[in-house]
Amino acid sequence: EVKVRFAPSPTGPLHIGGARSALFNWLFARRYGGKFVVRIEDTDLERSSRESEENIVSSLRWLGLDWDEGIDVGGPGGPYRQTERLDLYKRYAEQLLANGMAYRCYCSEDELAAQRESQLAAGDMVRYTGKCRDLTPEDCARLEGEGRKPVIRFRVPADKLITVRDKVRGDVNFDCAGIGDFIIVKSDGIPTYNFAVVVDDHFMGITHVMRAEEHLSNTPLQVLLYEALGWPVPAFAHVSLILGKDRSKMSKRHGATSIEQYRELGYLPEALVNFLALLGWSPGTEDEVLTLEQLQEQFSLERVSKSPAVFDLEKLNWLNGYYIRHSSLERITELAVPFLQKAGYLPENPDKTMWEKARLIAAAIRERIEYMDQVTEQARVFFVDPGYEDPQARDILAQEQVPEVFRALQDKLAALPAVLDEETARGLLKKLPKELGLGGKKVYQPLRVALTGKTSGPELHHLLPVLGSQRVITRLQNALA
Ligand code: GLU
Repeated sequence: EVKVRFAPSPTGPLHIGGARSALFNWLFARRYGGKFVVRIEDTDLERSSRESEENIVSSLRWLGLDWDEGIDVGGPGGPYRQTERLDLYKRYAEQLLANGMAYRCYCSEDELAAQRESQLAAGDMVRYTGKCRDLTPEDCARLEGEGRKPVIRFRVPADKLITVRDKVRGDVNFDCAGIGDFIIVKSDGIPTYNFAVVVDDHFMGITHVMRAEEHLSNTPLQVLLYEALGWPVPAFAHVSLILGKDRSKMSKRHGATSIEQYRELGYLPEALVNFLALLGWSPGTEDEVLTLEQLQEQFSLERVSKSPAVFDLEKLNWLNGYYIRHSSLERITELAVPFLQKAGYLPENPDKTMWEKARLIAAAIRERIEYMDQVTEQARVFFVDPGYEDPQARDILAQEQVPEVFRALQDKLAALPAVLDEETARGLLKKLPKELGLGGKKVYQPLRVALTGKTSGPELHHLLPVLGSQRVITRLQNALA
């Protein structure tokens, strides 16, 4: 049975890259009827925090990903936080020590730095010299007597070639000569990433390790550990880097990097998931709009690309706009309300009329926005009376039929209740040109300019009900003043 995991280090919020790894693992598990585990790798005590962990968990949930085992949900392989599994790592570090596959190293930071420097000066490869490889128990006792605290290093075999069989990259060879004896347990007793990840992936029964390409160079170290512990080696798949449009590594310069930021900007989770899925994977068809269901039916490692994925914000915006246009008006209204409140356009506890107003605004602008944060700018026209400085607007307002058109609309509004509904507005506007014996453009264009200050914008039948008769009349008068 397929079992995969997402194993974030809680050292910051969930980023685009992490979310992509989580999604690929989730899709792979769902596609093959397997299990998905979420494990927290918090062995970097300085940089890990519960706050980051919570951010990661809530971002995953918001994206619509769930897990069969792991943090928050528990399961047979728990606990799912590495700092709660220290006894397990200790047991296997001791086993490696006992059979001579690992040893204690007492070199201090200063000594290691000096070793590195002389290697550099000699033009040698920089790696641990192996100084403590053959210490006797007496040596160890003496060094400990000096107050030194040992780390545990893995004894890397001298002449060995490690082949990582990668499902995306094919076979990748590593020469052990380039790998120094690496640390598996730090002097404070905390395991390093490479050691903890192997113990956990083994005991959690992980069959496929799918993660970012930046971990490829760690993989031979992990393979060595699996072999030393006599455990089967899982399949590996390293997913390529995500680059910005300028082909440099994705960073803050390229836009928002955390999932939380996209959530706050009013992106829809299904749009983000759709976009993330296409970062390094393709369905092999022209289809760009894919739901979570379609993705889990189609996902496969064969279609994961070896070349770097390019983060194209315009494409994300396009997809998000698509999902906004295809969501129910109720949902878009609910998403719009907080942005209208933030702008001060709606009160904190909107009553029924206010909600109706928000619904009309959402209907008026949903075609014109790509993410909900743009609501604020687009909704401005409904709340702030426009100016008429634009020369094009002035020309239109100066047309000879304009006073007559405005008067006609004012008369009609005066005869109606102050609160207009969309149907009434639509009907009234439709009849206007014929009643005045004018073409549509001669009627609608100056009205639009008077109500918005611009020649394009929301539909008039959306504008009238939101503005209400009083405000419409005021703007018509201002436009001619
Ligand atoms: N904790 C590692 C990270 O966040 C996970 C690497 C792995 O998946 O093995 O990068």
